[in-house]
Amino acid sequence: MTVHDIESPATVFAAPFAFRDIGDGCVVTNPAGQFAFLALEELAAFVEGRLDEHSDAYARLDGRNFIRKSLDTEDLANRIAKRRAYLRQGPWQHDLLVTLRHPGTRALAAGYDRGHDATDADMSAGTAEHCVDLALLSTAPAVTLVFRGGEPLLSFDVMRHAVEYANDRNDAIRKDLGISLVSDLSAMDDEKLDWLVRNKVHVVAAVDGPAPVHDQLHSLGSRSAYAETARWIGRLREAGLEHVDATFALTRHALGHADEIIDSYRELGIRSMMVELIPPELASGHGAPREEALGLYLELVDRMLAGAKQGQELAERLASVLLSRILQQHDPNYLGLRSPAGGGTGGLVYGHDGTVYPSEHGRRAHLDGDDLFVLGDVEHSGYDGILRHETVSAMLVASMLEANPGCALCAYQPYCGVLPDENHRLQGSLHGRVRDSYRARILVNIQDHLFRLIRDADPAVMAVLKRWSAPDEHRHFVV
Ligand code: SF4
Repeated sequence: MTVHDIESPATVFAAPFAFRDIGDGCVVTNPAGQFAFLALEELAAFVEGRLDEHSDAYARLDGRNFIRKSLDTEDLANRIAKRRAYLRQGPWQHDLLVTLRHPGTRALAAGYDRGHDATDADMSAGTAEHCVDLALLSTAPAVTLVFRGGEPLLSFDVMRHAVEYANDRNDAIRKDLGISLVSDLSAMDDEKLDWLVRNKVHVVAAVDGPAPVHDQLHSLGSRSAYAETARWIGRLREAGLEHVDATFALTRHALGHADEIIDSYRELGIRSMMVELIPPELASGHGAPREEALGLYLELVDRMLAGAKQGQELAERLASVLLSRILQQHDPNYLGLRSPAGGGTGGLVYGHDGTVYPSEHGRRAHLDGDDLFVLGDVEHSGYDGILRHETVSAMLVASMLEANPGCALCAYQPYCGVLPDENHRLQGSLHGRVRDSYRARILVNIQDHLFRLIRDADPAVMAVLKRWSAPDEHRHFVV
């Protein structure tokens, strides 16, 4: 049978739920993200209200807020509130673009980076202080300053000043203050390395594959950009910074190289990486078509799982975020996958000149001539003025999956998220058209894959999935 054979849904038997056919049966989920697996015949009996109370399927659904007569609305409400706890906080991630300069070129930032000598593209120390002041005004109890570029290490003095200023100010404010650096490490030297290690900065290295792949996206003249990044990751680890995380931009150059990609991360001692899904229209000619990108993503995850079963720990962060929500009912508050979206209410981006945006997409849109995402400036706009900006409100409304026609009936809604800023850049509206969205169409298949793994319940695989889903040793997922 298929789900289309279900004829007469009963209105009084099942509590609100959604389902998805994942092959050999389906997964049903409720608004709190509780789930169960059913054969299609069991789904039909459930929907039509004729499920035998003594059946295995009934036992799988009962006690999980799927059966209307045993629905515990207080439990359901508590679970939803816990899942959305981030809504009671405020912006925790504050990205300071301390420079737009880069010592070489980054293909995926073409048109946004500036050359090595463009010192007018550096943030001033005064602007950095204003950024810190705004960040520490956040209602979030934990705040992370994320330094980005360009290549942020080219503006190291400003970064160091901002951190020292933040630590001083925070003596009185007492936020849980984190510091992260997102960099390809191409402007590293011994002094900077020593300071990063002494200050326990969380380093996220941009490593876009093994040398033949990475070097097509990063250029440092005659030097191999990959060799430089790899050298400094090694030095950081030798110096005691055990956890260097990585981002991996999934481009067409990486297709067909799953094994080499995994090998290169293992050789570098990376224990977690975030695969970045980049729609081809935003990849300056380097994008991977959707089906191929999905295929590579799933290959990478499966190879990581196979390695992890043999003790080679390397976790993929996007899968970890989803698994935290699915298996642990815990939300790591990752801004790239949240409902409502994290831009503004979860994080802010400060351009080198002090312009405030809800996200990097918003900053790039501004550089492309669209000022929808300009929320103000760090010196004059004020915390309230920025957070109450109409664009922040519009992004909130547009990214609530319950109200998005493409997502409202999707079984993966409790775990998922959309990017209204990316929608706007690609499709001309904050709501976007989910069914045509590169990201959304990959996300649904990734979640199909994860749920199939969970349903198949191989004990060794489940042990790895549970490790990946455990609340992270870093407080936040910074990318
Ligand atoms: S983005 Fe896709 S997978 Fe996510 S909730 Fe919407 S339709 Fe479902």
